[in-house]
Amino acid sequence: SPPAPRVICWFRTDLRVHDSPALHAALALAPACLYPVWCWDPHYVRTAPVAPNRWRFLLECQRDLSAALTRLNPAQRLFVLREAPTTLLPKLFAAWNITHLVFERDTDTSYGALRDAEIVEKARNAGVQVVTAAGRTLWDPVDITREAGGKPTMSLTAFMKAAKKLGDPAKPLDAPTSLPDPGDLTLSFEHAPPSSDTDINAPHRRGHGDQSYVALAGPGGDFSVPTLEELGIPASAATTPHQGGETIALQHLAKLIADPKYIATFEKPKTAPTAFEPASTTLLSPHLHFGSLSVRRFLHDVQNATAKHTGKKSSPPTNLPGQLYFRDMYFAAQHAVGPAFGCELGNPVVRYIPWHLPSTDTGYTVDSLEAHAWFVRWAWGLTGFPFVDALMRQLRAEGWIHHLGRHMAACFLTRGGAYVHWERGAAVFAELLLDHEPACNAGNWMWLSCTAFFAQYYRVYSPVAFGKKWDPEGTFIRRYVPELAEYSNKWIYEPHRAPREEQRKAGCVVRALEEGGKNSGDVYYPAPMFDFAERREVCLAGMKEAYKVGVHGDDARVVNGTARDA
Ligand code: FAD
Repeated sequence: SPPAPRVICWFRTDLRVHDSPALHAALALAPACLYPVWCWDPHYVRTAPVAPNRWRFLLECQRDLSAALTRLNPAQRLFVLREAPTTLLPKLFAAWNITHLVFERDTDTSYGALRDAEIVEKARNAGVQVVTAAGRTLWDPVDITREAGGKPTMSLTAFMKAAKKLGDPAKPLDAPTSLPDPGDLTLSFEHAPPSSDTDINAPHRRGHGDQSYVALAGPGGDFSVPTLEELGIPASAATTPHQGGETIALQHLAKLIADPKYIATFEKPKTAPTAFEPASTTLLSPHLHFGSLSVRRFLHDVQNATAKHTGKKSSPPTNLPGQLYFRDMYFAAQHAVGPAFGCELGNPVVRYIPWHLPSTDTGYTVDSLEAHAWFVRWAWGLTGFPFVDALMRQLRAEGWIHHLGRHMAACFLTRGGAYVHWERGAAVFAELLLDHEPACNAGNWMWLSCTAFFAQYYRVYSPVAFGKKWDPEGTFIRRYVPELAEYSNKWIYEPHRAPREEQRKAGCVVRALEEGGKNSGDVYYPAPMFDFAERREVCLAGMKEAYKVGVHGDDARVVNGTARDA
């Protein structure tokens, strides 16, 4: 008879025990022993531009999952190992006599896909059976793409048409009530530090730094979740109030669905981007990103709560299920397009706009240098437009901003102000967001820059009127741009227009950014980096022209190529 299964359940994007198709599949093998494992890939720690807030959120998710596993069996925990999975897992297969490797399929089309393909191959070579399960989205992007005839789903209508053919998403699975023991945990092999790996042709293995933190099972040798310090990040660098972990995610979801009216009447365009403590939307996106909340569980609970509400109900695309469908839509579009979905080069769905050239291009013009300065000021919340600055500072400090705040920030940087390439803004979001999701981030940046998904480029967000509509008193600005806190409602959105006397009274004068540092000691706020009304016209004219040419993706280089061929 075949040997009793000895199973590694490899956690990555699914840091939970509720509705975990991978854990479920692992237990369905009736394993003699089960090893729940997390591999700290040094590639990520050393090279990914990820803000400390997201690292902390991840560590919180890991600790919470580990505690949940221990509750199901005191001998269990999340066994956290410090080595890249591509080199580590094959050694674990041998050391622990593994028969099966189980994991949730990653929807990532670049790094994750390369890594997983390599590991599947190595598992096969080692005679280890690989079992994968879909659980990151409501519907598997592979299935959606097939039902959409292989085409990327570029609208919610196209997405829903494909989804309809697949029927309702699977119901969420219950958390297990117990777990088998892990087996022997001896690590009877040399810990090969990843920097000894000479295969630099594997892009996902480049750039390993020093090995100081990579003792295989952690400093205590007990497979513990690392601290931020162990990753080389001072704890004080993580400033977000948002906390990770399945326990918190489920508590937060329960609190939201205890209000069926909120859930059943939710309409995204009517939620305020200026609301904080509490936010006007669910703020569950970071949990969906790390899998500390299952998206199927989210949908299921929302549907149940909605059924309890007897009054008028909202519907897709603006209701909560609609929001989750948007998420799935971007995952499916990314799957169909492939890795180029995240950029312009080679991306067949994106429209070419001759943005100010990115800093890496040769042949600077005065315009592009100026735009580079605008980009930096935008990224640090120093544009001189208080609403935009409040949003960007909230993003940097807390790792999350409301969807319409993201609209404002992205439109302003691209087609509605600075005319800077959307990829540059997307990179800043990718670093700072707790919920950074390559598919959703790129997809929404294309939407907001009117390069794909959305084409009404003449609808531009005003950095003054848009914020005022939601928050005439500027409470949001006072919170995140505290130097303006004493300004009256009349001037809070445009402090540069306030008479000097009023500015002094408010304890903060408005000065050109370059002037600011010269008068040390007094508090100042930068003057607007450009005349918005003027920029709006320049951008509209640029977009109109670009739409006339009307080229997509790679074709653009042929038609419009000169500058970008450099
Ligand atoms: P809710 O309104 O409560 O919605 C519930 C869930 O639906 C969210 O948690 C999210 O998973 C999903 N969702 C809602 N709107 C969208 C949307 N437009 N696209 C995709 N999913 C959606 N979302 C990310 O998850 N990761 C990103 O990296 C990301 N980058 C963005 C960049 C830009 C420029 C813009 C405009 C939007 C981006 N979004 C991204 C989408 C959206 O802003 C966030 O999902 C949402 O604000 C998260 O807050 P919430 O959980 O309160 O959302």
